[in-house]
Amino acid sequence: MSGELLLLSNSTDHGAELLAHARDALAEFYAGREVLFVPYALADHDGYADAVGAAFAAAGLRLRSVHTDPDPAAALRAAEAVWVGGGNSFRLLRALQRADLLTTIRTAVAGGARYGGASAGTNMACPTLRTTNDMPIVEPAGFATLGLVPFQINPHYVDADPGSRHMGETRERRIEEFLEENDVPVLGLREGAWLRVSGPTVTLHRRTARLFRRGRASEECAAGTDLSFLSAVEPGFDVCQFSSWPVPAPSACCRPTSRSRPAAAPTAPCGTSSSARTTSGTVQAPVRSCNAPTANGPAAATT
Ligand code: ASP
Repeated sequence: MSGELLLLSNSTDHGAELLAHARDALAEFYAGREVLFVPYALADHDGYADAVGAAFAAAGLRLRSVHTDPDPAAALRAAEAVWVGGGNSFRLLRALQRADLLTTIRTAVAGGARYGGASAGTNMACPTLRTTNDMPIVEPAGFATLGLVPFQINPHYVDADPGSRHMGETRERRIEEFLEENDVPVLGLREGAWLRVSGPTVTLHRRTARLFRRGRASEECAAGTDLSFLSAVEPGFDVCQFSSWPVPAPSACCRPTSRSRPAAAPTAPCGTSSSARTTSGTVQAPVRSCNAPTANGPAAATT
């Protein structure tokens, strides 16, 4: 599946108006298209649609909210462009599941509709919700998201403050925990950054990001980095899933992560990976699952 995607870390940059930091990018990405807005990540759909409509108007774009349409699925099927707003990603995913819109959006994007999102909208473009920052304020029927890209993004990525006395997990530690269980790259997109995906080409824009991969030291990515190798990854979910309890000794499947083994040798800056590019575009890649007879990863759920 190929796609044209614009995936923002955040909707509002510090000290700026809603989406003002990405105004030019939005104007270029959606030029000449009417944008269908998906407001379900916030509770106040009317208020959200008004605010985002004004932000898009400032970029010279027309936006209409899907919640005002009597048939949201038909509207999404016919859409030439979609914008999925941020908010609570669990609420957003549950709404999309309940209205049976995940497949509809995937099909629309495969058919050429442009997909843009910020934060929770960016989480939705990944295979699974497992790298969101949000609290599960509602209970979706599974964590499978759109899978427009085969890797994970952690929006609003924030570095640990070395002077902090806070003893909760850092964002880095949370992502490492994800990588202990799953073999899927996670791109920590710092605020103000976005990804532009065009078929198999993935480029980081405006700000930096941190790339986390299972069993490797994390890497810093500068704005402008070509991250196209990420479009060729095969996500592996629940690679340490065991069928019996108590958990047996770690097997070869359960490789140590960079945290639990000696520091890895410095790696090449991200973007210089030798991984092959694909010409197949962004795909819902096959899910690898080790020791798991049935994959509970994203491909298993299609809602
Ligand atoms: N709550 C975020 C948002 O603004 C999503 C996230 O942090 O994962 O949409």
